[in-house]
Amino acid sequence: MLSIIVPCFNEEASLPLFFAETEKVRPLVNMPFEYIFVNDGSSDQTLTVLRELFKKNPDRVRYLSFSRNFGKEAALYAGLQAAKGDFVTVMDADLQDPPTLLPEMFERLYRNSELDCIGTRRADRKGEPKIRSFFSNNFYNVINKIADTQLVNGARDFRLMRRNMVDAVLQLSEYNRFSKGIFSWVGFETEYIAYDNIERVAGETSWSFWKLFQYSIDGIVNFSDTPLNIASFIGAFSCLGSGIAMIFIIIRTFLLGDPTSGWPSMVSIFLFVGGLQLLCLGIIGKYIGKIFLETKNRPLYFLKETEQDQKEHK
Ligand code: UDP
Ligand code: MG
Repeated sequence: MLSIIVPCFNEEASLPLFFAETEKVRPLVNMPFEYIFVNDGSSDQTLTVLRELFKKNPDRVRYLSFSRNFGKEAALYAGLQAAKGDFVTVMDADLQDPPTLLPEMFERLYRNSELDCIGTRRADRKGEPKIRSFFSNNFYNVINKIADTQLVNGARDFRLMRRNMVDAVLQLSEYNRFSKGIFSWVGFETEYIAYDNIERVAGETSWSFWKLFQYSIDGIVNFSDTPLNIASFIGAFSCLGSGIAMIFIIIRTFLLGDPTSGWPSMVSIFLFVGGLQLLCLGIIGKYIGKIFLETKNRPLYFLKETEQDQKEHK
């Protein structure tokens, strides 16, 4: 069986289109389908749409509905946990992950038993604001330099995996989830298919520039301790520098006397060092914050309703 996991946050308009498009490719894939829609605390009629979909196709549609918005990462995890298929794919509801690619991905994975996963990535960054491309490209450059986990630039979450890889991903039950990194960290043989970027069919993206920026910081903090090393390095370097300067000043005072000048330079040095300390504390704080959330060991999500509840009502 092939499980299709679809995280949905305010997708009432996209969902029927998504379902219709995916149903079209169903005959081309030689495997029974299982849809798992995860309603991530939508504030629109997404849940109603899902109930309808289930009523019309009870043999292959399942849905999970969260008690509130827990984020796409939690929705993905819930979907992966619920999936029963030997093959599992993860798709966005807005048709930015074209279902027409599914048959090809499935063929490739099915034929080649060496492969564990077929991923997708955008062929280019056309149609994206220049400034966003700039930051995205730099994010990938930075994280690939400082983290052991390599990320593919432009890789999307849309991927088709074998059961063994899904089970591996499920074992990483951390609270701070950065899927792009997790999929890469577990290893396994992955091949990428490139395709042109597509605009979402309906609704609005939930990613602002600021959210993306925070997401990229999360990615770095979750998969690399290099920022901590940089902080220690800055500290050691400025200690060494000021030590040398002190020796220099002491010797100069002995040789030339002590004219009381240089207040402005003193103040700027104080500010500079103070700033460095705050920066390093901030970096350390970021990691401690992650540890704090992680040690609470909270569940990643709470379910409020699933298709099972519908069955019982009948
Ligand atoms: N999504 C979600 N929870 C959220 C935000 C988004 O489940 O808090 C889902 C959303 O419904 C969509 C997918 O994640 O299916 C990708 O979201 P979006 O299209 O907004 O992101 P983009 O494609 O712009 O990166
Ligand atoms: Mg999208």
